[in-house]
Amino acid sequence: MVDMRTMLSRAVMNGVISRVGRGFTAQVRRELRAFGRAQWRPYAQLRELQLEGVNRLLSHCVRTVPYYRRMHVQGLLPDRIGRLEELSQVPTLSKETLVAQGEEFVSSTVAPGALLPRRSGGSTGEPLHFFITPHAAAVMAACEHYGNSLAGHCVGDPIATLWGSRFDNAPPTFRQRAARYLSNITQCVVDRMDEAVCRDIVRRLERQKPTVLVGYTAALMEMAAFLEDRGLRPNFPKRSVISAAEPLTPSQRQTLERVFGRSVFNRYGTREVGLVAMECSYHRGLHLNGHSLYVEFEPVAGLGDARRVIVTKLFEMGMPFIRYDLGDYILGDVSACPCGRGFPIIQAVRGRVVSNLRLPNGAFIAPEVFIVLLDRQSVREYRVVQAADYSARVEIVPGPHWDDTMAQHVLRTLHGVTLGLVEFRIELRERVERTPSGKLLPIVSHVPSPVETAPLAWEAIRAA
Ligand SMILES: [Zn+2]
Repeated sequence: MVDMRTMLSRAVMNGVISRVGRGFTAQVRRELRAFGRAQWRPYAQLRELQLEGVNRLLSHCVRTVPYYRRMHVQGLLPDRIGRLEELSQVPTLSKETLVAQGEEFVSSTVAPGALLPRRSGGSTGEPLHFFITPHAAAVMAACEHYGNSLAGHCVGDPIATLWGSRFDNAPPTFRQRAARYLSNITQCVVDRMDEAVCRDIVRRLERQKPTVLVGYTAALMEMAAFLEDRGLRPNFPKRSVISAAEPLTPSQRQTLERVFGRSVFNRYGTREVGLVAMECSYHRGLHLNGHSLYVEFEPVAGLGDARRVIVTKLFEMGMPFIRYDLGDYILGDVSACPCGRGFPIIQAVRGRVVSNLRLPNGAFIAPEVFIVLLDRQSVREYRVVQAADYSARVEIVPGPHWDDTMAQHVLRTLHGVTLGLVEFRIELRERVERTPSGKLLPIVSHVPSPVETAPLAWEAIRAA
């Protein structure tokens, strides 16, 4: 049976009540339909559309954006390209440049006050303040709906989020509360997940019965541990679990599927550019968002096969980002998915380069190898913090089975996987620190970033 809120939400989101949202929901719907069409286009056609999008953006930026006009004068940015691969010659844009010269990126065509302020999480440094046009906000909302739809969510149906963020959780305005109610989202703050908080979340979600539960991997895992420890079988979500914003290991996926009894979908996106990639029901990899973004991958010296994720927003004309370096990287091939969608799939997405343990010989260790720390009876939570001199402290929230033997076992195993090149020490904690946006990064490395090598375009990777 469908409840009142869901009926109302569906009516608003599907345009039955068209006056709500001042045309915003209508734009979101239009963009969502465009996503729906784009995903089934053949890959070659998608590339043509992306080339058109990139050229539209280049011409706009060279004419109206001070930063890009200067690059154009210096011969670093063309106003038009003949093939998408040519874009790889343009220097990448770092978050640091945006933080330092933000106002230089605003187009002169934008009226003062016409842009919406946004802020990125600042997982690994200073938060980024940036702006988007109302149209870009609609595109990003559509991205989110599109990603959720791949996990079986229909617009207007109840959805719950396990996010925790100090700055996100300022008291909402009346309008925000109304929008949240009408979009049928139950937001659960998870920056403190003690027993009382978990109980409260379970009570709210048992009542709302969300179709989809979206959350940080660590928050979903904490919720799963809470439920499993008490032998509780939740009646939510009805369709699927979406794990986002943090790496998802195969064993975490198994745990979530076991406890919630639903499929788990991995999602990758950022606040700056929106949805970048999302798994479909085939679970063979994450489909790139080939509609509103043009995504390239660049090799990184000293990181083996890993390639950095470089994103151009095709829809943002107010404060455009061309070849923005997300700081994350992928491993493995870019390929086609058997589901038939034209959006290619990528395999493992890894967190920022700083979220990997670095070895003095140039190699890196991804969070997955810390499987020894995933024995939940011994280790509730962990975080490995590496200093600039490569030594690392392993912060552990001990579980009931933690003891000296386990500590020795952990140290021996870590010593083995890092070939004895990293010195580890264990520190027991009551809680592992989160980023300002509430994420638990399993590894934080303060070893300086490696030097970048020459870029390699998407097409070359596909051909390889
Ligand atoms: Zn697929």
